[in-house]
Amino acid sequence: MELQRAFTRPDELLRAVALDPADFSADVKARQLFPLRVPRPFVHLMEAGNPHDPLLRQVLPLRQEFHAPAGYSTDPLHEQSADTAKDEAKGLLHKYRSRVLIILKGGCAINCRYCFRRHFPYDEVRFDQHQLEQTLAYLSNHPDVNEVILSGGDPLMASDHQLQRIIAALADIPTLKRVRIHSRLPVVIPARITQELVVALTATRLKASLVIHANHANEISPSLGESMAVLRQAGVHLFNQSVLLKGVNDTPDALVNLSERLFDIDVLPYYLHQLDKVIGAAHFEVTDTKAQYLWQQMNIRLPGFLVPKLVREVGGEHSKTPIMPDGNVTKLSAFE
Ligand code: SF4
Repeated sequence: MELQRAFTRPDELLRAVALDPADFSADVKARQLFPLRVPRPFVHLMEAGNPHDPLLRQVLPLRQEFHAPAGYSTDPLHEQSADTAKDEAKGLLHKYRSRVLIILKGGCAINCRYCFRRHFPYDEVRFDQHQLEQTLAYLSNHPDVNEVILSGGDPLMASDHQLQRIIAALADIPTLKRVRIHSRLPVVIPARITQELVVALTATRLKASLVIHANHANEISPSLGESMAVLRQAGVHLFNQSVLLKGVNDTPDALVNLSERLFDIDVLPYYLHQLDKVIGAAHFEVTDTKAQYLWQQMNIRLPGFLVPKLVREVGGEHSKTPIMPDGNVTKLSAFE
């Protein structure tokens, strides 16, 4: 229901947050590069009349998206060439030794302008019965894989019935221990956490975890808190990953507040990602030096369990690459 009601036109979105579309006429053309899609519950969390609102900034097309600086590409993580299992099981990414990722659904409930998959050939994504069978055969032949990550797009765009069927089938592979879902849907439409979904995630021998994706404390709504409480009480492990985004969360206060608000709803900060260099998102880039400074500030102001790992994904690498501070606090304090 909320999916059908989502904003897809920039002028309607801007009016909904009390901004004049005429002030953004040169910006909204960037919609042709990547469609606009924003569910209403997410829009309700934006501050009316604020063109710099950190949630609006994540979804509003801007003229800067037409810039393609050196080092930016349409497939920054080489996912389309790293689809190492594609001959054996289409839609399966086996980048890391013990985990595989299933691209379950092409679409998302929200289109984030910084998304590294904004050029991904989503239309080709169909995870059907044949692919499930291929995937199960692949997993049977790769006993070193003990975790399946359901991803997308957004895997919670799949129906509860489909998810239940896939998770039940995965549980028949004896070498699998865990199933993990990466989804932004609970943040942008908290009502997506239905009782049927909770059952799908918990009526299995596999340990289930959910990694949500929130970038700013303003995304942590009371409804999201209620949904997370239901999952937590059912035994689902809850984590969050964020992307470090210029103009959205690139201050110590923004990141500290996000971690605090996440813990309020029983979600642990897991990763803080440096931006993947995808064409159209360069205006969100935060330098590594500033990222390290922000991470140091989080360490000073938060207990260790509320400090996410600061990482970058590098195409072809077998794990995320940590971005370690160089310890030069004096130099880094120049960002105060
Ligand atoms: S929800 Fe995730 S996959 Fe979908 S557009 Fe946003 S960042 Fe990309």
